Amino acid sequence: MQTARTTEQWRELDAAHHLHPFTDPHSLNQQGARVITRGEGIHLWDSEGHKIIDGMAGLWCVNIGYGRKDLPEVARRQMEDLAYYNTFFKTTHPAVVELSHLLSEVAPEGFRHIFYTNSGSESVDTMMRMVRHFWAVQGKPEKKVLIGRWNGYHGSTIGGASLGGMTYMHEQGDLPIPGIEHVEQPWWYKYGKDMTPEEFGLAAARWVEDKILEVGPERVAAFVGEPIQGAGGVIIPPSTYWPEVERICRKYDVLLVADEVICGFGRTGEWFGQQTMGFHPDIFTTAKGLSSGYLPIGAVFVGDRVANVLVAGGDFNHGFTYSGHPVAAAVAHANVKALRDEGIVDRVKNETGPYMQERWRATFGNFDHVDDVRGVGLIQGFTLVRNKATHELFPEWGTAGTMCRDIFFENNLIMRACGDHIVAAPPLVITKAEIDEMLGVAGRCLERFEKVVREKGMAG
Ligand SMILES: *Cc1c(COP(=O)(O)O)cnc(C)c1O
Repeated sequence: MQTARTTEQWRELDAAHHLHPFTDPHSLNQQGARVITRGEGIHLWDSEGHKIIDGMAGLWCVNIGYGRKDLPEVARRQMEDLAYYNTFFKTTHPAVVELSHLLSEVAPEGFRHIFYTNSGSESVDTMMRMVRHFWAVQGKPEKKVLIGRWNGYHGSTIGGASLGGMTYMHEQGDLPIPGIEHVEQPWWYKYGKDMTPEEFGLAAARWVEDKILEVGPERVAAFVGEPIQGAGGVIIPPSTYWPEVERICRKYDVLLVADEVICGFGRTGEWFGQQTMGFHPDIFTTAKGLSSGYLPIGAVFVGDRVANVLVAGGDFNHGFTYSGHPVAAAVAHANVKALRDEGIVDRVKNETGPYMQERWRATFGNFDHVDDVRGVGLIQGFTLVRNKATHELFPEWGTAGTMCRDIFFENNLIMRACGDHIVAAPPLVITKAEIDEMLGVAGRCLERFEKVVREKGMAG
């Protein structure tokens, strides 16, 4: 929406009336929010005409890039035909049928059923109710504990925030709710450096087993994890972790759930992160890349084992007014079809993903305060450290990260700080030349960052 206001007016009205998510209103309003007005490909423009490289694809979601002309056309036609109808009472509509059919085609084998939501958080809450229902209809209502991980992110609703392991979120609103347990994250750099990554992967999986035994397998409904932790700072588990977690879940008959809200729809070079990390969940949750953020929609993919029980299990008393919303479904369908038919996911796997990983390591590998340079596909990170030789982190977790993130932002590059992890997840349509451009800017920002670290005497 382009209204005839100045940037100052937008900032003033924003400060007066808009409460931002995950934001301290006071400090934001002192600075004034940056007003973003337009997007095209991997670029955004602000109201002052700056062209910005969006290294985060919005919030890890604009997989197909900004400014597509076909998606608004699909939305316009669907709104004209049928702007809204529900799917609660023995009705359906072509948009949701076509999307479900297409999603069953791109999903890993054994995922034929989809439940729709409007967001990742709703997908997670839906999954939580679904796994408990799954056990209850089989006469095991006490099998209801969900195990998540510290520093995992599963959204901001009461269920999702409880299952997630962000303690600063638990501190507000009396979370977590009962029936949630957490185990430590498979972060080798912090917890496993005295082992090989492969040994550590098995050790971290054993934390899951220990927790299942502590709670009692007869009480554990599911283990839930992101294939790669996104908001936690792009924590990529060692290759041994997920297959071992899967073995453990099977051993104790605990459902295995992947939260694919970030990893899904091509981010890691495969359609889903479970394929990259080599495991087979019973259920997985999605949102973000499903519509590339063009409209809000989420989907829970239900594997055959769970679907068979649900189909035979009577009413599942759950759903949203906008579950399978026709316009969102039509846009998601066009988005997923384009990701597939234009070879965008394939390109991440075979071309731009490998190129990004090579350039990412070459760009950041030699800085004094950058370590654990990592990534796969088009999701990557590194950690800012006080002393690389001794693997010492900065004493105040997050300060260096914010400093670094702000330098990027001042230079019209968006990358994100998760504590002192710096992460990037650009639109999947990024070209090799654009990767060079993005990392050229990022490298110069890091030089500047290290200069500030030295000047402030933060170096170890
Ligand atoms: C973003 C995210 C969510 C929450 O999605 P919303 O659409 O913000 O509700 C859940 N899980 C993961 C892994 C996410 O990254």
